[in-house]
Amino acid sequence: MSELRQNPASGDWVIIAPERHPRPHPLRREDGPRTPAPKAGCPFEDLKKSGNWPLVRARPSAGKWRIAVFQNKYPALARGGGACAEPFRHGIYRGRTGVGAHEIVVTRDHRKNFAALAPAAAHEVFEVFRERIRAFAEDPCLAYAVPFMNWGPKAGASLWHPHYQIIASPIIPPHSARSLRGAAEYWNARRRCVRCEMIREERAEGARMIAENAHAVAFAPYASKVPFEAMIIPKKHQPYFYKTPSAALRGAAELVQSVMRWLKARAGDPDLNFFVHEAPIDGGRHGYHHWHVEILPRLSVPAGAEFSTGIFIDALPPETAAAILRGAKKHVA
Ligand SMILES: [Zn+2]
Ligand SMILES: [Zn+2]
Repeated sequence: MSELRQNPASGDWVIIAPERHPRPHPLRREDGPRTPAPKAGCPFEDLKKSGNWPLVRARPSAGKWRIAVFQNKYPALARGGGACAEPFRHGIYRGRTGVGAHEIVVTRDHRKNFAALAPAAAHEVFEVFRERIRAFAEDPCLAYAVPFMNWGPKAGASLWHPHYQIIASPIIPPHSARSLRGAAEYWNARRRCVRCEMIREERAEGARMIAENAHAVAFAPYASKVPFEAMIIPKKHQPYFYKTPSAALRGAAELVQSVMRWLKARAGDPDLNFFVHEAPIDGGRHGYHHWHVEILPRLSVPAGAEFSTGIFIDALPPETAAAILRGAKKHVA
């Protein structure tokens, strides 16, 4: 029988419906093995030539960058030259000018995505996220920042060359606001962090655990929205990604790499998005939040049910997904 399950932070409901597996969408890539796009014509090989210049940040230097940050040429939100987002009205509607930031982070190697990077290089990507969010936090125009990766066309990646984006916005997005409100309510009612409680519960129960190291854990969320969804979270309570010590950052980056490698080897190499859910950087106090990384493989297509109700139907129970990712169970498509 299927089950309705609720996310204790956001309050969102999902339906875990294993009898829908594997139809209508088999739980693997349908478009064959990945073939890298040729290096020739890749805009991230020569950043100056492709107009992705000047760099906002580079390591170790702009000339010899191993990792580079620049403004997105096609930004969703752009800097306001000192001005913050201005509210406006349009009849009964309201809006704000699109002031914010939209940056691209590129790693040098055309063929190595996050999972394939050396551990130190993956850690460096997280360090650059931390550095950029710290800079955004000092900007009074910005309230929220989210680093994310789109990997593969089904996940929205228009270029092969591995890259990441950071969007900083003048508002707290409603999706995040809901989770933040839920976590704050939990904190106020019980004086405990909902995600620390989830970590405790997952480690005690074990069925949805994927892996852990000294600093972080990876598990398949109880109310997973999509097959093979994974959460990577530091063990120690830490509201702000941008204030997190390097050891915890390294521990989380390592687990994101592991989960991505197992997705490739054991779960049919799905396209995926991963993102960091950071606390708001609006100057408020958000001690109840506990940052985490979510990995959302794109094996299922959100359709009428999801768009009309907001309830995701997941055909793969997270307990099965975790066992497959741990290598304890064979994946049957
Ligand atoms: Zn390239
Ligand atoms: Zn916590």
